[in-house]
Amino acid sequence: MTPDVLFLVDATAAAPIEVSPHDPALTVTQLAATRGDGIFETIVVVHGVPQAMRAHLDRFARSARMLDLPAPDLDAWEAVIQAAADRMRAHPRAAIKYVLSRGDEAGENATMGWVLGFVSPPRQAGPIRVVTLDRGYRSDVAQTSPWLLQGAKTLSYALNMAALREARRRGADDVVFVSTDGLVLEGPNSTVIARVGDTFVTPPVDLGILPGTTQHDAFVVLAAAGHATAVRTVTVDELRDADALWLCSSTRGAAAVSHLDGVERSTDDDITALIATGLDARKA
Ligand code: PLP
Repeated sequence: MTPDVLFLVDATAAAPIEVSPHDPALTVTQLAATRGDGIFETIVVVHGVPQAMRAHLDRFARSARMLDLPAPDLDAWEAVIQAAADRMRAHPRAAIKYVLSRGDEAGENATMGWVLGFVSPPRQAGPIRVVTLDRGYRSDVAQTSPWLLQGAKTLSYALNMAALREARRRGADDVVFVSTDGLVLEGPNSTVIARVGDTFVTPPVDLGILPGTTQHDAFVVLAAAGHATAVRTVTVDELRDADALWLCSSTRGAAAVSHLDGVERSTDDDITALIATGLDARKA
C-alpha cells in the first residue's frame, strides 16, 4: 500500500516535518530497518477522526516501557497523528501507522519516528477461514521470560507474517496462535473474541498478548446492548466448541470466522453487524 501522508518526528515529536511519502526519508542504518528495533501502532481513521486514539497511545507507551525506549510524549504524538488525520478528512476510511525507532546505529542513537497516512485501507471482507498454529511458548511466557517481549507491539513482525503465509498454505486467511499448554492467545495481527453461550469472552493480556483496542471497544458495544462479556482464559477445545468467533483489529473491525482448522462453523451475523455499527460510531 502506498502511503499518502508522511510526517517525520524527532525524539520529542514536538516539531513534525511533513515530507512527500514518495521520497526517500530513512537512513539505511536506522535500527527500525536493520533490527526491527522499535514499536508501532496502526489506527483507523473515520472521516478524519482517529478511532481509539488514547488507547493506541497508551499501548504505544506500554510497548516503549517494555523495550526500555524513552517514554514518548503522548500529547505531542497525538498532535502529529491528528495532523495526518486532518489531511485525510475527505476520505470515509483511512489508516495511520506510527512508528518509533530506537535510532540510527551510525549516529548518536536518538530515537526518531514517523507517522504514515493511508487513505482507504482495504477491509478484510466477509467471513474468514482461520487455522490454529502453535506459538511455541507457554502461556506464562510474559512472566517467566519478559525479554522475549511478548505483548509488546514491536516492529519485529516477520514471525507474524510467516504465520499468515502458513495459513495461506493451509487454504486459510488468518491464524489463531495457541500456547504450548493449550490456551488461545491472539492472531498475528488481531484479538480473538468467542461467544460461549450468552457470554463474549477474550483471553487476558497476561498471556503475553496485546491489549486489543478493537476488542475493548467491541466489548463496550456488546455491554451497551445488554450482552455479558468476560476476559478469561480460553482453551483450544472451548474455541472449537464456541458458538461464534471473531478476529478483531483496527483496520478490519470484527471479522467473523467461518471455518476453524477446515471445519465450517456458524456465524452470528446480527452481532457482527452490531459491532461494526458500534465501532464506526466511535467519536474518538
Ligand atoms: N494482536 C496483535 C499481535 C496485533 O498486531 C494487533 C493489531 O495489529 C491486535 C492484536 C489488534 O489490536 P487493535 O485492535 O488495537 O488493532
